[in-house]
Amino acid sequence: MPGLMILTGMVASANNHFRIESLPGVVRQGEVYPISVLGPPSLKSIYAEFQGVTFPLDFSEPKGAYEGLIGIDMDTQPSTYEMKIARKDEGSNVPLARVSLKVEKTDFGIQILSLPSAMVDLDRKTMERVHQEEKKVNGLFRRFREERLWRGAFILPVEGELSGAFGFRRIINGQRRSPHTGVDLRAKEGTPVLASNSGIVVLVEAFFFSGKSVILDHGQGFFSMYFHLSEALVEEGERVDKGALLGRVGSTGRATGPHLHWGIRMNGARVDPLSLLKIKTYPEYLFQQ
Ligand SMILES: [Zn+2]
Repeated sequence: MPGLMILTGMVASANNHFRIESLPGVVRQGEVYPISVLGPPSLKSIYAEFQGVTFPLDFSEPKGAYEGLIGIDMDTQPSTYEMKIARKDEGSNVPLARVSLKVEKTDFGIQILSLPSAMVDLDRKTMERVHQEEKKVNGLFRRFREERLWRGAFILPVEGELSGAFGFRRIINGQRRSPHTGVDLRAKEGTPVLASNSGIVVLVEAFFFSGKSVILDHGQGFFSMYFHLSEALVEEGERVDKGALLGRVGSTGRATGPHLHWGIRMNGARVDPLSLLKIKTYPEYLFQQ
């Protein structure tokens, strides 16, 4: 889709074979930003750095470009940021370029929910359990595989209707609660839930809020999460291909009916999984297998 590709900047570097090609330098809160850097294959270990977080770029032979995805957390302040492109060279970081990336505000909206008070007003023991579960998941996110396991476009894990959008600020039983960090896809109990991309199963467990949960590590800091399953059909440590059967839709944990909660983390950034799917509409642009 060449019309969508514009040159956002030339590099202030002695190497004039190197330039940054990207979609317009604008992204919204909670979206994924694809970046492409044209340059000779010899550069190796190129990465983009946004707000102190690094996102590796991989060389794509047919394009002659280094490509990668940058996750913009839902709470990133709308502003224009400087993004660094650099290369790791024997332990030191060699800056190659700086480009500006404008983050625009997303209107996430508000969701007002009424839930049984047992699911909202937690006793001390349950609070402690929830706290431990959060700690465990955050620990997993810090120990990701460096190797890129994901390939090509991400896919929708379940054929279902969108019943809960990403980013809703939630008011539950009249009280402000944490925002919704994934999307809810309504589907019949038992509907197959598929791996949205290739990766390693790093968690299969029943949690208080998310019910029966599966988390995949896709490498390079990317994770996908599948919550409220009626059953999980994979085991921790298992390697799965994109489209593999992970489990079935259910309503375990805090859920008002059968649905899949699908979440994505990209190097800590909470992004809208649906924004990841949109990237496949740029077929020439990124990630030919
Ligand atoms: Zn949800």
